[in-house]
Amino acid sequence: MEGIGGMIVRNDQIPQTLMQAARHFVDPDVAEAYIASKKWPDGPCCPECGSINVGHIKSSNRHQCRVKGCRTQFSLTTGSIRASVIPRATTPHIRQILLASVETGSGLYTDESSIYHWARSVYRHRSVNHQTEYVDGDVHVNGCENFFACLRRAVKGTYIRPTRDHLGAYVDEAVYRFNVRRETEWDRFNAAMGKIAGKRMTYSELTGGKAR
Ligand SMILES: [Zn+2]
Repeated sequence: MEGIGGMIVRNDQIPQTLMQAARHFVDPDVAEAYIASKKWPDGPCCPECGSINVGHIKSSNRHQCRVKGCRTQFSLTTGSIRASVIPRATTPHIRQILLASVETGSGLYTDESSIYHWARSVYRHRSVNHQTEYVDGDVHVNGCENFFACLRRAVKGTYIRPTRDHLGAYVDEAVYRFNVRRETEWDRFNAAMGKIAGKRMTYSELTGGKAR
Protein backbone atom coordinates (compact mmCIF):
# COMPACT_ATOMS: atom_id res chain seq x y z
CA MET A 1 0.00 0.00 0.00
CA GLU A 2 3.06 2.22 0.06
CA GLY A 3 2.73 5.61 -1.57
CA ILE A 4 -1.00 5.42 -2.16
CA GLY A 5 -1.92 8.08 0.35
CA GLY A 6 -0.94 9.57 3.67
CA MET A 7 -3.91 8.15 5.51
CA ILE A 8 -3.35 4.60 4.36
CA VAL A 9 0.34 4.66 5.20
CA ARG A 10 -0.40 6.13 8.62
CA ASN A 11 -3.04 3.51 9.35
CA ASP A 12 -0.58 0.80 8.36
CA GLN A 13 1.83 2.14 10.96
CA ILE A 14 -0.52 1.68 13.91
CA PRO A 15 0.88 -1.36 15.73
CA GLN A 16 -1.56 -4.24 15.88
CA THR A 17 0.47 -6.73 17.89
CA LEU A 18 2.83 -6.63 20.88
CA MET A 19 5.84 -7.19 18.64
CA GLN A 20 4.80 -4.42 16.27
CA ALA A 21 4.23 -2.07 19.21
CA ALA A 22 7.65 -2.90 20.65
CA ARG A 23 9.33 -2.16 17.33
CA HIS A 24 7.21 0.92 16.68
CA PHE A 25 8.06 2.69 19.94
CA VAL A 26 11.76 1.79 20.09
CA ASP A 27 12.54 5.21 18.58
CA PRO A 28 12.24 7.87 21.35
CA ASP A 29 11.05 10.46 18.80
CA VAL A 30 8.17 8.20 17.77
CA ALA A 31 7.28 7.57 21.43
CA GLU A 32 7.43 11.32 22.18
CA ALA A 33 5.27 12.22 19.19
CA TYR A 34 2.76 9.58 20.27
CA ILE A 35 2.53 10.92 23.84
CA ALA A 36 2.33 14.49 22.51
CA SER A 37 -0.57 13.55 20.22
CA LYS A 38 -2.41 12.07 23.22
CA LYS A 39 -1.62 14.87 25.65
CA TRP A 40 -2.09 17.73 23.19
CA PRO A 41 -4.42 16.64 20.36
CA ASP A 42 -4.65 20.31 19.21
CA GLY A 43 -0.94 21.05 19.59
CA PRO A 44 1.11 22.04 22.67
CA CYS A 45 -1.06 23.69 25.31
CA CYS A 46 0.22 25.95 28.13
CA PRO A 47 -0.30 24.14 31.46
CA GLU A 48 -0.58 27.51 33.24
CA CYS A 49 -3.16 29.44 31.19
CA GLY A 50 -4.43 26.87 28.68
CA SER A 51 -3.40 28.86 25.60
CA ILE A 52 -2.32 27.06 22.44
CA ASN A 53 -0.41 30.17 21.32
CA VAL A 54 2.87 28.49 22.10
CA GLY A 55 6.39 28.58 20.66
CA HIS A 56 9.00 25.83 20.58
CA ILE A 57 12.52 26.32 21.99
CA LYS A 58 14.67 24.04 19.88
CA SER A 59 17.81 24.08 22.06
CA SER A 60 16.00 22.69 25.12
CA ASN A 61 13.07 20.97 23.36
CA ARG A 62 10.73 22.96 25.57
CA HIS A 63 7.72 25.10 24.75
CA GLN A 64 6.95 28.63 25.80
CA CYS A 65 3.56 30.27 26.13
CA ARG A 66 3.33 33.47 24.04
CA VAL A 67 0.59 35.01 26.16
CA LYS A 68 1.70 38.32 27.74
CA GLY A 69 2.07 37.97 31.50
CA CYS A 70 2.23 34.17 31.29
CA ARG A 71 5.27 33.21 29.19
CA THR A 72 5.40 29.86 31.02
CA GLN A 73 8.02 27.40 29.78
CA PHE A 74 7.00 23.76 29.78
CA SER A 75 7.78 20.40 28.25
CA LEU A 76 5.91 17.22 27.42
CA THR A 77 6.52 15.99 30.96
CA THR A 78 5.47 19.17 32.81
CA GLY A 79 2.80 18.24 35.34
CA SER A 80 4.14 14.71 35.64
CA ILE A 81 5.22 13.14 38.89
CA ARG A 82 8.74 11.90 39.55
CA ALA A 83 9.61 10.08 42.73
CA SER A 84 12.73 8.63 44.29
CA VAL A 85 13.32 6.24 47.13
CA ILE A 86 16.01 7.60 49.44
CA PRO A 87 17.42 5.86 52.51
CA ARG A 88 16.95 8.92 54.70
CA ALA A 89 15.36 12.26 53.91
CA THR A 90 18.35 14.41 54.81
CA THR A 91 19.29 17.79 53.37
CA PRO A 92 22.28 16.45 51.34
CA HIS A 93 20.13 13.66 49.80
CA ILE A 94 17.28 16.00 48.92
CA ARG A 95 19.68 18.61 47.59
CA GLN A 96 21.44 16.11 45.33
CA ILE A 97 18.16 14.80 43.89
CA LEU A 98 16.64 18.23 43.32
CA LEU A 99 19.74 19.68 41.68
CA ALA A 100 19.89 16.66 39.35
CA SER A 101 16.24 16.81 38.30
CA VAL A 102 15.02 20.40 38.65
CA GLU A 103 16.59 23.15 36.57
CA THR A 104 18.04 25.93 38.74
CA GLY A 105 15.92 29.09 38.68
CA SER A 106 12.71 27.04 38.43
CA GLY A 107 9.78 27.61 40.77
CA LEU A 108 9.91 25.10 43.64
CA TYR A 109 6.97 24.60 45.98
CA THR A 110 7.48 22.47 49.08
CA ASP A 111 6.14 21.96 52.56
CA GLU A 112 7.70 23.79 55.50
CA SER A 113 10.41 21.22 56.21
CA SER A 114 13.80 22.72 57.04
CA ILE A 115 15.49 20.32 54.59
CA TYR A 116 14.51 22.77 51.80
CA HIS A 117 15.86 25.94 53.37
CA TRP A 118 19.02 25.92 51.22
CA ALA A 119 16.83 25.93 48.08
CA ARG A 120 16.01 29.62 48.36
CA SER A 121 19.40 30.54 46.90
CA VAL A 122 19.01 28.25 43.85
CA TYR A 123 15.27 28.17 43.08
CA ARG A 124 12.29 30.47 43.32
CA HIS A 125 11.36 28.54 46.43
CA ARG A 126 8.09 28.97 48.28
CA SER A 127 6.50 26.76 50.87
CA VAL A 128 3.18 26.12 52.55
CA ASN A 129 2.84 25.40 56.24
CA HIS A 130 0.47 22.48 56.59
CA GLN A 131 -0.11 23.26 60.26
CA THR A 132 -2.03 26.35 59.24
CA GLU A 133 -2.98 26.07 55.55
CA TYR A 134 -2.85 23.85 52.47
CA VAL A 135 -2.84 26.51 49.79
CA ASP A 136 -1.20 29.94 49.86
CA GLY A 137 -2.19 31.80 46.69
CA ASP A 138 -0.90 29.53 43.92
CA VAL A 139 1.57 27.78 46.21
CA HIS A 140 0.58 24.24 47.16
CA VAL A 141 1.85 20.69 47.04
CA ASN A 142 -1.53 19.04 46.52
CA GLY A 143 -0.31 17.13 43.44
CA CYS A 144 2.43 15.49 45.51
CA GLU A 145 0.06 14.80 48.39
CA ASN A 146 -2.40 13.22 45.98
CA PHE A 147 0.25 10.95 44.48
CA PHE A 148 1.61 10.00 47.86
CA ALA A 149 -1.86 9.08 49.13
CA CYS A 150 -2.28 6.76 46.09
CA LEU A 151 1.13 5.19 46.72
CA ARG A 152 0.41 4.66 50.41
CA ARG A 153 -2.91 2.98 49.61
CA ALA A 154 -1.22 0.69 47.06
CA VAL A 155 1.52 -0.28 49.55
CA LYS A 156 -0.99 -0.96 52.33
CA GLY A 157 -3.70 -2.59 50.27
CA THR A 158 -1.96 -4.34 47.37
CA TYR A 159 1.80 -4.77 47.85
CA ILE A 160 1.41 -5.31 51.63
CA ARG A 161 5.13 -5.52 52.47
CA PRO A 162 7.46 -4.47 49.65
CA THR A 163 11.07 -5.20 50.53
CA ARG A 164 13.53 -2.34 50.68
CA ASP A 165 15.42 -3.74 47.65
CA HIS A 166 12.38 -3.46 45.40
CA LEU A 167 10.70 -0.37 46.83
CA GLY A 168 12.10 1.69 43.94
CA ALA A 169 10.36 -0.54 41.39
CA TYR A 170 7.03 -0.26 43.21
CA VAL A 171 7.37 3.51 43.36
CA ASP A 172 8.26 3.66 39.64
CA GLU A 173 5.15 1.65 38.83
CA ALA A 174 2.97 3.96 40.94
CA VAL A 175 4.54 7.00 39.23
CA TYR A 176 3.83 5.56 35.81
CA ARG A 177 0.22 4.75 36.60
CA PHE A 178 -0.30 8.20 38.14
CA ASN A 179 1.14 10.03 35.13
CA VAL A 180 -1.06 8.18 32.64
CA ARG A 181 -4.18 8.05 34.81
CA ARG A 182 -6.23 10.18 32.39
CA GLU A 183 -5.47 8.01 29.35
CA THR A 184 -7.56 5.05 28.20
CA GLU A 185 -6.59 1.45 28.98
CA TRP A 186 -5.71 1.00 25.34
CA ASP A 187 -3.39 4.00 25.28
CA ARG A 188 -1.76 2.93 28.55
CA PHE A 189 -1.26 -0.53 27.12
CA ASN A 190 0.25 0.83 23.89
CA ALA A 191 2.59 3.14 25.76
CA ALA A 192 3.70 0.46 28.23
CA MET A 193 4.36 -1.98 25.41
CA GLY A 194 6.39 0.71 23.68
CA LYS A 195 8.89 0.56 26.50
CA ILE A 196 9.60 -3.16 26.47
CA ALA A 197 11.82 -3.34 23.38
CA GLY A 198 15.39 -4.36 24.13
CA LYS A 199 14.65 -5.00 27.82
CA ARG A 200 15.23 -8.31 29.52
CA MET A 201 15.10 -9.24 33.16
CA THR A 202 16.09 -12.62 34.51
CA TYR A 203 14.57 -14.16 37.61
CA SER A 204 17.87 -13.88 39.42
CA GLU A 205 18.11 -10.14 38.60
CA LEU A 206 14.54 -9.69 39.83
CA THR A 207 15.27 -11.39 43.13
CA GLY A 208 18.73 -9.87 43.53
CA GLY A 209 20.25 -13.34 43.12
CA LYS A 210 18.89 -14.29 46.53
CA ALA A 211 16.20 -16.74 45.47
CA ARG A 212 16.85 -19.99 43.67
ZN1 LIG B 1 0.33 30.49 29.28
